[in-house]
Amino acid sequence: MTKKFAKEDIVIGISACLIGEKVRFDASNKPSNFCIKELGQHVTYKAYCPEVAVGLPIPRPTIRLIKDQELIKVARPDGSGDVTREIKAYGKKVASFSANLSGYVFCAKSPSCGMERVKVYSPSGDPLQAKGIGVFSREIMKANPLLPCEENGRLNDPILRENFVARVYAYRHWQAVVESGISKHKLTSFHAQYKYTLMSHDLVAYKNLGRLLARADLAVDDMAAQYIAGLMTALTKPATRKNHANTLSHIQGYFSKYLNKEQRKELSAQVDAYRNALVPLMVPLTLINHYLLAHPNDYLAQQAYLNPYPEALKLRYGY
Ligand code: SF4
Repeated sequence: MTKKFAKEDIVIGISACLIGEKVRFDASNKPSNFCIKELGQHVTYKAYCPEVAVGLPIPRPTIRLIKDQELIKVARPDGSGDVTREIKAYGKKVASFSANLSGYVFCAKSPSCGMERVKVYSPSGDPLQAKGIGVFSREIMKANPLLPCEENGRLNDPILRENFVARVYAYRHWQAVVESGISKHKLTSFHAQYKYTLMSHDLVAYKNLGRLLARADLAVDDMAAQYIAGLMTALTKPATRKNHANTLSHIQGYFSKYLNKEQRKELSAQVDAYRNALVPLMVPLTLINHYLLAHPNDYLAQQAYLNPYPEALKLRYGY
Protein backbone atom coordinates (compact mmCIF):
# COMPACT_ATOMS: atom_id res chain seq x y z
CA MET A 1 0.00 0.00 0.00
CA THR A 2 1.48 3.39 -0.95
CA LYS A 3 1.33 6.23 1.56
CA LYS A 4 -2.09 7.80 2.08
CA PHE A 5 -2.43 11.53 2.71
CA ALA A 6 -5.21 13.38 4.46
CA LYS A 7 -6.73 16.36 2.63
CA GLU A 8 -4.84 18.81 4.84
CA ASP A 9 -1.54 17.05 4.13
CA ILE A 10 -1.52 17.83 0.42
CA VAL A 11 -1.31 21.55 -0.31
CA ILE A 12 -1.63 22.79 -3.88
CA GLY A 13 -1.15 26.36 -5.05
CA ILE A 14 -3.86 27.66 -7.38
CA SER A 15 -4.85 30.83 -9.22
CA ALA A 16 -7.56 32.28 -6.99
CA CYS A 17 -10.08 32.82 -9.82
CA LEU A 18 -10.09 29.05 -10.50
CA ILE A 19 -11.63 28.26 -7.13
CA GLY A 20 -14.33 30.85 -7.57
CA GLU A 21 -12.83 34.06 -6.15
CA LYS A 22 -14.13 37.03 -8.14
CA VAL A 23 -10.75 38.60 -8.69
CA ARG A 24 -10.52 38.84 -12.49
CA PHE A 25 -10.22 42.16 -14.35
CA ASP A 26 -14.02 42.26 -14.84
CA ALA A 27 -14.80 41.12 -11.27
CA SER A 28 -15.69 37.64 -12.50
CA ASN A 29 -14.16 34.27 -11.69
CA LYS A 30 -13.22 31.26 -13.78
CA PRO A 31 -14.25 28.27 -11.65
CA SER A 32 -12.70 24.93 -12.51
CA ASN A 33 -15.23 22.19 -11.77
CA PHE A 34 -12.54 19.56 -11.54
CA CYS A 35 -10.45 21.60 -9.11
CA ILE A 36 -13.37 22.61 -6.91
CA LYS A 37 -15.67 19.59 -6.94
CA GLU A 38 -13.28 16.69 -7.46
CA LEU A 39 -9.64 17.35 -6.63
CA GLY A 40 -10.71 19.84 -3.93
CA GLN A 41 -12.25 16.95 -1.94
CA HIS A 42 -8.78 15.47 -1.47
CA VAL A 43 -6.33 18.38 -1.30
CA THR A 44 -6.06 21.77 0.38
CA TYR A 45 -5.64 24.83 -1.83
CA LYS A 46 -3.50 27.87 -1.21
CA ALA A 47 -4.97 30.47 -3.56
CA TYR A 48 -3.06 33.45 -4.95
CA CYS A 49 -4.13 36.31 -7.20
CA PRO A 50 -0.92 38.18 -8.02
CA GLU A 51 -2.67 41.10 -9.71
CA VAL A 52 -4.82 41.84 -6.68
CA ALA A 53 -1.89 41.14 -4.35
CA VAL A 54 0.15 43.94 -5.94
CA GLY A 55 -2.67 46.40 -5.47
CA LEU A 56 -4.57 46.36 -8.75
CA PRO A 57 -8.28 46.99 -8.17
CA ILE A 58 -11.29 44.79 -8.98
CA PRO A 59 -12.50 45.55 -11.62
CA ARG A 60 -9.42 46.89 -13.43
CA PRO A 61 -8.25 47.65 -16.96
CA THR A 62 -6.91 44.55 -18.75
CA ILE A 63 -3.18 43.96 -18.87
CA ARG A 64 -1.15 41.89 -21.33
CA LEU A 65 2.38 40.70 -22.07
CA ILE A 66 4.17 43.25 -24.28
CA LYS A 67 7.51 42.50 -25.89
CA ASP A 68 9.65 45.61 -26.21
CA GLN A 69 13.08 44.83 -27.66
CA GLU A 70 14.17 41.80 -25.63
CA LEU A 71 12.15 42.68 -22.56
CA ILE A 72 8.68 41.31 -21.83
CA LYS A 73 6.57 43.42 -19.53
CA VAL A 74 3.04 43.16 -18.23
CA ALA A 75 1.10 46.37 -18.71
CA ARG A 76 -2.06 47.85 -20.20
CA PRO A 77 -2.43 47.54 -23.99
CA ASP A 78 -1.11 51.12 -24.46
CA GLY A 79 2.01 50.27 -22.40
CA SER A 80 0.96 52.26 -19.34
CA GLY A 81 0.51 50.82 -15.84
CA ASP A 82 3.56 48.55 -16.03
CA VAL A 83 3.36 46.13 -13.06
CA THR A 84 6.08 43.71 -14.17
CA ARG A 85 8.41 44.47 -11.28
CA GLU A 86 5.68 44.22 -8.65
CA ILE A 87 4.23 40.94 -9.93
CA LYS A 88 7.69 39.45 -10.37
CA ALA A 89 8.63 40.44 -6.81
CA TYR A 90 5.37 38.94 -5.52
CA GLY A 91 6.11 35.71 -7.45
CA LYS A 92 9.55 35.50 -5.82
CA LYS A 93 7.99 36.12 -2.41
CA VAL A 94 5.34 33.39 -2.82
CA ALA A 95 7.98 31.02 -4.22
CA SER A 96 10.17 31.60 -1.17
CA PHE A 97 7.55 30.18 1.19
CA SER A 98 6.17 27.50 -1.12
CA ALA A 99 8.41 24.58 -0.23
CA ASN A 100 5.39 22.81 1.26
CA LEU A 101 3.40 22.95 -1.99
CA SER A 102 2.99 19.65 -3.82
CA GLY A 103 1.61 21.12 -7.03
CA TYR A 104 0.22 24.23 -8.67
CA VAL A 105 -2.75 24.86 -10.97
CA PHE A 106 -2.36 28.04 -12.99
CA CYS A 107 -5.03 29.93 -14.93
CA ALA A 108 -4.31 29.57 -18.65
CA LYS A 109 -3.67 32.54 -20.95
CA SER A 110 -3.23 35.04 -18.12
CA PRO A 111 -0.25 37.43 -18.48
CA SER A 112 0.37 36.91 -14.76
CA CYS A 113 -0.60 33.26 -14.18
CA GLY A 114 -0.38 31.51 -17.57
CA MET A 115 2.01 28.58 -17.63
CA GLU A 116 2.75 28.54 -21.34
CA ARG A 117 1.63 29.91 -24.72
CA VAL A 118 0.38 33.20 -23.28
CA LYS A 119 -0.27 35.78 -26.00
CA VAL A 120 2.47 38.36 -26.40
CA TYR A 121 1.97 41.70 -28.19
CA SER A 122 4.25 44.26 -29.76
CA PRO A 123 4.28 47.81 -28.27
CA SER A 124 2.03 48.86 -31.14
CA GLY A 125 -0.52 46.18 -30.24
CA ASP A 126 0.21 43.54 -32.89
CA PRO A 127 -0.05 39.96 -31.66
CA LEU A 128 3.31 38.16 -31.73
CA GLN A 129 3.89 34.44 -31.36
CA ALA A 130 1.84 33.13 -28.46
CA LYS A 131 4.64 31.61 -26.41
CA GLY A 132 4.85 33.78 -23.34
CA ILE A 133 4.81 32.71 -19.71
CA GLY A 134 2.97 34.63 -17.01
CA VAL A 135 5.21 36.90 -14.96
CA PHE A 136 4.05 35.37 -11.65
CA SER A 137 3.94 31.71 -12.79
CA ARG A 138 7.43 32.02 -14.28
CA GLU A 139 8.85 32.88 -10.82
CA ILE A 140 7.02 29.99 -9.13
CA MET A 141 8.21 27.46 -11.73
CA LYS A 142 11.76 28.86 -11.79
CA ALA A 143 12.12 28.52 -8.01
CA ASN A 144 10.49 25.06 -7.92
CA PRO A 145 11.47 23.28 -11.15
CA LEU A 146 10.27 19.89 -9.88
CA LEU A 147 6.88 21.12 -8.68
CA PRO A 148 4.05 19.47 -10.66
CA CYS A 149 2.31 22.34 -12.48
CA GLU A 150 -0.67 22.38 -14.81
CA GLU A 151 -3.21 24.77 -16.30
CA ASN A 152 -6.99 24.66 -15.87
CA GLY A 153 -7.74 24.12 -19.58
CA ARG A 154 -5.31 21.22 -19.94
CA LEU A 155 -6.90 19.53 -16.94
CA ASN A 156 -9.96 18.85 -19.11
CA ASP A 157 -7.87 16.30 -21.00
CA PRO A 158 -8.23 12.96 -19.11
CA ILE A 159 -4.62 11.91 -19.77
CA LEU A 160 -3.10 15.24 -18.69
CA ARG A 161 -5.44 15.36 -15.68
CA GLU A 162 -4.41 11.89 -14.53
CA ASN A 163 -0.77 12.70 -15.17
CA PHE A 164 -0.91 15.88 -13.08
CA VAL A 165 -2.61 14.23 -10.10
CA ALA A 166 -0.25 11.24 -10.24
CA ARG A 167 2.73 13.62 -10.19
CA VAL A 168 1.28 15.57 -7.25
CA TYR A 169 0.85 12.42 -5.14
CA ALA A 170 4.27 11.04 -6.11
CA TYR A 171 5.89 14.37 -5.26
CA ARG A 172 4.05 14.56 -1.93
CA HIS A 173 5.19 11.03 -1.15
CA TRP A 174 8.75 12.09 -1.90
CA GLN A 175 8.41 15.17 0.32
CA ALA A 176 7.28 12.88 3.16
CA VAL A 177 10.33 10.66 2.69
CA VAL A 178 12.62 13.72 2.76
CA GLU A 179 10.84 15.07 5.85
CA SER A 180 11.51 11.77 7.63
CA GLY A 181 15.25 12.00 6.85
CA ILE A 182 16.62 10.58 3.63
CA SER A 183 18.80 7.44 3.63
CA LYS A 184 20.07 5.06 0.98
CA HIS A 185 17.65 2.41 2.22
CA LYS A 186 14.69 4.79 1.93
CA LEU A 187 15.73 5.78 -1.58
CA THR A 188 15.92 2.15 -2.68
CA SER A 189 12.59 1.37 -1.10
CA PHE A 190 10.97 4.43 -2.74
CA HIS A 191 12.34 3.39 -6.13
CA ALA A 192 10.96 -0.13 -5.64
CA GLN A 193 7.50 1.32 -5.00
CA TYR A 194 7.61 3.32 -8.23
CA LYS A 195 8.90 0.48 -10.43
CA TYR A 196 5.68 -0.03 -12.39
CA THR A 197 4.76 3.65 -12.37
CA LEU A 198 8.11 4.42 -13.98
CA MET A 199 7.80 1.53 -16.42
CA SER A 200 4.48 2.89 -17.63
CA HIS A 201 6.01 6.33 -18.23
CA ASP A 202 9.58 5.69 -19.30
CA LEU A 203 11.34 2.33 -19.12
CA VAL A 204 14.74 3.86 -19.89
CA ALA A 205 14.36 6.28 -16.97
CA TYR A 206 13.45 3.37 -14.69
CA LYS A 207 16.68 1.59 -15.59
CA ASN A 208 18.80 4.74 -15.37
CA LEU A 209 17.44 5.59 -11.94
CA GLY A 210 18.18 2.05 -10.78
CA ARG A 211 21.80 2.51 -11.96
CA LEU A 212 21.96 5.85 -10.14
CA LEU A 213 21.00 4.18 -6.87
CA ALA A 214 23.72 1.55 -7.37
CA ARG A 215 26.49 4.15 -7.51
CA ALA A 216 28.93 4.06 -4.64
CA ASP A 217 30.60 7.40 -5.42
CA LEU A 218 27.66 9.66 -4.58
CA ALA A 219 26.69 11.13 -1.21
CA VAL A 220 23.09 10.27 -0.31
CA ASP A 221 21.91 13.91 -0.62
CA ASP A 222 23.34 14.21 -4.14
CA MET A 223 21.85 10.88 -5.07
CA ALA A 224 18.45 11.95 -3.72
CA ALA A 225 18.57 15.24 -5.64
CA GLN A 226 19.40 13.48 -8.89
CA TYR A 227 16.85 10.76 -8.23
CA ILE A 228 13.86 13.04 -7.70
CA ALA A 229 14.84 15.20 -10.69
CA GLY A 230 14.93 12.05 -12.85
CA LEU A 231 11.68 10.69 -11.43
CA MET A 232 9.68 13.90 -11.88
CA THR A 233 11.03 14.35 -15.41
CA ALA A 234 10.02 10.79 -16.29
CA LEU A 235 6.54 11.21 -14.80
CA THR A 236 5.98 14.41 -16.78
CA LYS A 237 6.03 12.24 -19.89
CA PRO A 238 2.46 10.87 -20.07
CA ALA A 239 2.21 7.08 -19.89
CA THR A 240 1.16 5.62 -23.24
CA ARG A 241 -1.41 2.88 -23.76
CA LYS A 242 1.36 0.61 -25.06
CA ASN A 243 3.51 1.17 -21.95
CA HIS A 244 0.52 0.64 -19.64
CA ALA A 245 -0.34 -2.60 -21.45
CA ASN A 246 3.27 -3.83 -21.17
CA THR A 247 3.33 -2.91 -17.48
CA LEU A 248 0.07 -4.80 -16.90
CA SER A 249 1.55 -7.83 -18.66
CA HIS A 250 4.53 -7.76 -16.29
CA ILE A 251 2.23 -7.58 -13.27
CA GLN A 252 0.11 -10.38 -14.70
CA GLY A 253 3.17 -12.64 -14.44
CA TYR A 254 3.02 -12.50 -10.62
CA PHE A 255 -0.30 -14.31 -10.62
CA SER A 256 0.43 -17.04 -13.14
CA LYS A 257 1.08 -19.72 -10.52
CA TYR A 258 -2.00 -18.84 -8.47
CA LEU A 259 -4.65 -18.56 -11.17
CA ASN A 260 -6.35 -21.38 -13.00
CA LYS A 261 -6.43 -21.54 -16.78
CA GLU A 262 -9.75 -19.68 -17.08
CA GLN A 263 -8.64 -16.89 -14.75
CA ARG A 264 -5.33 -16.45 -16.60
CA LYS A 265 -7.23 -16.30 -19.89
CA GLU A 266 -9.62 -13.70 -18.51
CA LEU A 267 -6.81 -11.50 -17.21
CA SER A 268 -4.93 -11.71 -20.54
CA ALA A 269 -8.14 -10.87 -22.39
CA GLN A 270 -8.68 -7.76 -20.26
CA VAL A 271 -5.09 -6.58 -20.75
CA ASP A 272 -5.45 -7.13 -24.51
CA ALA A 273 -8.81 -5.33 -24.53
CA TYR A 274 -7.10 -2.36 -22.88
CA ARG A 275 -4.17 -2.59 -25.30
CA ASN A 276 -6.68 -2.38 -28.16
CA ALA A 277 -8.56 0.55 -26.57
CA LEU A 278 -11.72 -1.51 -26.03
CA VAL A 279 -11.87 -0.93 -22.25
CA PRO A 280 -10.41 1.75 -19.95
CA LEU A 281 -7.31 1.12 -17.82
CA MET A 282 -9.51 0.67 -14.76
CA VAL A 283 -10.87 -2.64 -16.07
CA PRO A 284 -7.66 -4.74 -16.04
CA LEU A 285 -6.48 -2.87 -12.93
CA THR A 286 -9.65 -3.81 -11.04
CA LEU A 287 -9.14 -7.44 -11.91
CA ILE A 288 -5.48 -7.27 -10.83
CA ASN A 289 -6.41 -5.63 -7.53
CA HIS A 290 -9.05 -8.33 -7.04
CA TYR A 291 -6.47 -11.10 -7.55
CA LEU A 292 -4.04 -9.25 -5.31
CA LEU A 293 -6.58 -9.42 -2.48
CA ALA A 294 -7.06 -13.12 -3.06
CA HIS A 295 -3.32 -13.81 -3.43
CA PRO A 296 -1.45 -11.18 -1.37
CA ASN A 297 2.01 -10.19 -2.54
CA ASP A 298 3.98 -7.63 -0.52
CA TYR A 299 6.01 -6.34 -3.46
CA LEU A 300 2.93 -5.73 -5.61
CA ALA A 301 0.88 -4.36 -2.73
CA GLN A 302 3.40 -1.54 -2.21
CA GLN A 303 3.35 -0.46 -5.89
CA ALA A 304 2.25 3.14 -6.39
CA TYR A 305 1.07 2.09 -9.86
CA LEU A 306 -1.82 0.09 -8.40
CA ASN A 307 -2.90 2.75 -5.97
CA PRO A 308 -1.45 6.15 -6.95
CA TYR A 309 -4.15 8.52 -5.58
CA PRO A 310 -7.66 8.33 -4.11
CA GLU A 311 -9.74 6.04 -6.30
CA ALA A 312 -12.75 8.35 -5.82
CA LEU A 313 -11.11 10.68 -8.36
CA LYS A 314 -11.91 8.06 -11.03
CA LEU A 315 -8.99 9.20 -13.13
CA ARG A 316 -8.41 5.88 -14.85
CA TYR A 317 -11.99 5.39 -15.98
CA GLY A 318 -11.85 7.62 -19.02
CA TYR A 319 -8.99 6.26 -21.13
S1 SF4 B 1 -5.48 34.63 -13.65
FE1 SF4 B 1 -4.21 35.05 -11.88
S2 SF4 B 1 -4.01 37.28 -11.85
FE2 SF4 B 1 -5.73 36.81 -13.20
S3 SF4 B 1 -7.52 36.88 -11.87
FE3 SF4 B 1 -6.85 34.77 -11.90
S4 SF4 B 1 -5.51 34.61 -10.13
FE4 SF4 B 1 -5.74 36.78 -10.54
